[in-house]
Amino acid sequence: MKIKSTLLALSLCLSFAAQADNAPKNIIFMIGDGMGPTYTTAYRFYKDDPATKDIETTVFDRILVGMSRTSPAKVDGYITDSAAAATAMATGVKTYNGAIGVDEHKHPVETLFEKAKAKGKATGVAVTSQVNHATPASFLAHNEYRRNYVEIAKAYLDSDADVILGGGQKYFSKDLVNQFKSKGYRYLDNINKLDSVKSGKVLGLFANVQLPWVVNEPKAHKLSQMTQKALELLSQDKKGFVLLVEGSLIDWAGHNNDIVTAMGEMDEFARSIKVAEQFVKQHPDTLLVVTADHSTGGLTVGANGKKAWHPEVLRNVKASPDRIASKLNTVKKWQPELTSLLGFEPNKHEWNALKKARAQGESEFTDEIKRIIDIRSNTGWTTGSHTAMDVQVFAFGKGYKKFIGSQDNTDLAKKLESFL
Ligand SMILES: [Zn+2]
Repeated sequence: MKIKSTLLALSLCLSFAAQADNAPKNIIFMIGDGMGPTYTTAYRFYKDDPATKDIETTVFDRILVGMSRTSPAKVDGYITDSAAAATAMATGVKTYNGAIGVDEHKHPVETLFEKAKAKGKATGVAVTSQVNHATPASFLAHNEYRRNYVEIAKAYLDSDADVILGGGQKYFSKDLVNQFKSKGYRYLDNINKLDSVKSGKVLGLFANVQLPWVVNEPKAHKLSQMTQKALELLSQDKKGFVLLVEGSLIDWAGHNNDIVTAMGEMDEFARSIKVAEQFVKQHPDTLLVVTADHSTGGLTVGANGKKAWHPEVLRNVKASPDRIASKLNTVKKWQPELTSLLGFEPNKHEWNALKKARAQGESEFTDEIKRIIDIRSNTGWTTGSHTAMDVQVFAFGKGYKKFIGSQDNTDLAKKLESFL
């Protein structure tokens, strides 16, 4: 008996020692939805200081370590959606497009978050879409279809996640919010109240569906603020934590073929990565992994047979094209205001096209504004959907070497799980 318990104590001690040596205590996993390699390239040029001779590098260049293959289960071909990709990264299992934390046969698969919880770690998500959107849902729930938003929101009650931050008030009824409260969650419907939360579980829903585009509120810095607070709350857990942060709307801007809005979302995602990087520097027992689930829009940096890209056009645009169109659609003297919002005076040919599109309706007007910006910046798009190119993997902190080189998106889950 005594020998047995000594052996047990010894083996516990050894396993603890092994973990302490090799495994990070905390994991920060960040996903730029739709953020294929051209997005990080475009972002580098977008952030380039025109006054210097060099092209300054970004946080992405600083921590790049490898690539990830993104295809879903063969049944859905080569091009993934966000749900299958997130399920692969959350569980290590390839599945069909639309699947949330379930395999090809619709059977639930244990997620990274569930495994972390079983080890006594805290978990959290901070995203710019609704919190029950495909990517976070694949870590927190199991559902056969990504658009079962209400079912997924209800499933979050059982996830025991400590921090849930993003948009999505629409999907959380008063009754559901009350159930969260009775489970000990503090509920916030305004991001300005986030500062007042100093400990404990929190459900923060800061928009009806997704958060506003970053370009329309450039000083709000919501994702980096949520990332900072999530880290502050989760790091109070003595056994460590797993946090998922998603720049969700990079993908939405990509689907819209909207380069101005995409760059705004990239900027806030980059800022959030810097917040995480700073945390890792201060807490060296932490691993930061950043990747994308797929690329969106077939973005090209350069188009139309010309060797040129003009990010200065994008830097001067003061609002998203959809916001500009909705604002100016009913205003009589819309032309001076359009010039000011675009940051350039359209030429005669462009004015004609804009007038014609504006007369047709708001969505035509939006499309024409985007088209002119694409032509002036020489930006290209090949699709309104996803593309199958490999995506980058970025890692920093304890255990980052495991992510060097080429890997499958399911390997990311397996590698992260090996640290729990
Ligand atoms: Zn996606």
